[in-house]
Amino acid sequence: MRVLITGGAGFLGSHLSWALLMRGDSVVCVDDFSTGRLSNIARHVKHPNFTLVHGDVSKRLSCPGKLDVVAHLASPASPPDYHRLPLQTLAVGSRGTENALLLAERKSARFLLTSTSEVYGNPLIHPQTEQYCGNVNPVGPRSVYDEAKRFSEALSMAYARSRGVNVGVVRIFNTFGPGMRATDGRVVSSFIVQALNGAPLTIYGQGTQTRSFCYVDDLIRGLILMIDSSESGPVNLGNPAEKTILDLATTILDVTGSSSPIEFHQLPTDDPLQRCPDITLATRVLGWRPEMSTSDGIGRTVAYFSAHPHEVADAAEALAGSQFEGTNLTATSVAISA
Ligand code: NAD
Ligand code: UDP
Repeated sequence: MRVLITGGAGFLGSHLSWALLMRGDSVVCVDDFSTGRLSNIARHVKHPNFTLVHGDVSKRLSCPGKLDVVAHLASPASPPDYHRLPLQTLAVGSRGTENALLLAERKSARFLLTSTSEVYGNPLIHPQTEQYCGNVNPVGPRSVYDEAKRFSEALSMAYARSRGVNVGVVRIFNTFGPGMRATDGRVVSSFIVQALNGAPLTIYGQGTQTRSFCYVDDLIRGLILMIDSSESGPVNLGNPAEKTILDLATTILDVTGSSSPIEFHQLPTDDPLQRCPDITLATRVLGWRPEMSTSDGIGRTVAYFSAHPHEVADAAEALAGSQFEGTNLTATSVAISA
């Protein structure tokens, strides 16, 4: 197959590109490098079946030759990134998604949309099934991401219903693993980098909020199963092993052997208090379920960051600074033994 991946130089896009190359597909990666990195695709660019195109998919998207799949991953995904890039996030969710859908339509290609568990907002139904319509604040600081993704789902379904585009929508829950940026700002990479630097782990709120963390290899396997299927979705992809953020911090201190203290900061506005996928549908229609435990995945991610000591050291200052409004107002420190 020939697959065009928007956002192919990002964390998930680079893993997906490599997995497709390894099974014999050709990959065209289109990326504007707003949150992606050339280092993510250093080995890809040496592969004869990999093509890199530098461009902003919100402006235009074309590709000579046949395409079997358009996988639309381009979007800032980390809260600090989409807070920094609010208009670009809305643009890539709306105009970028439409450009990708139009390309898929012109090429008669399958279209994969990587939506997010954020469409459920601060969920009132737990765990979240695909039928749950969500609880999103349409004007809060997270709305630039959440509403862009909700719009991108609506647009994809409209292209499927009214123009017959072969659409597949997945809703990805928090995914982590090697290749994340040390300064990405998402909780797993931040805690690992802080632990390796001996810096305080910055918990927002009391750490009682929950997330469900999926290892990247499991997630990529799910994306490929969705590409290869004719399911329209939306289908949840995530690891139902739910953890509090305090549990996550303790696990990371255990795995790294760090004696970093834990610091409590103000919870950002609209931060969801709980999140856990119901993956019944993914198991039934794709035969998918995650295989890697969160702690084994964290072990592999710690090994990755330990092998990049300069990146980890350079990230210390960025992670110590406030990433959200008011984040540092109420910091209190406690020592947690590893
Ligand atoms: P990432 O920030 O690492 O990757 C996004 C990539 O898109 C980057 O390479 C960036 O440069 C590129 N990009 C952004 N805007 C672009 C534009 N206008 N034109 C071209 N390229 C552009 O994020 P990620 O974690 O790899 O996420 C990838 C996709 O998966 C996103 O759509 C995100 O919403 C979705 N997702 C990810 C997670 C997760 O836990 N990683 C969870 C839910 C959904
Ligand atoms: N979080 C935290 N400390 C950090 C970064 C994040 O306590 O340094 C919390 C954040 O408030 C949220 C959870 O961890 O409750 C997951 O945050 P992340 O940004 O990784 O993903 P998302 O909020 O998009 O699920």
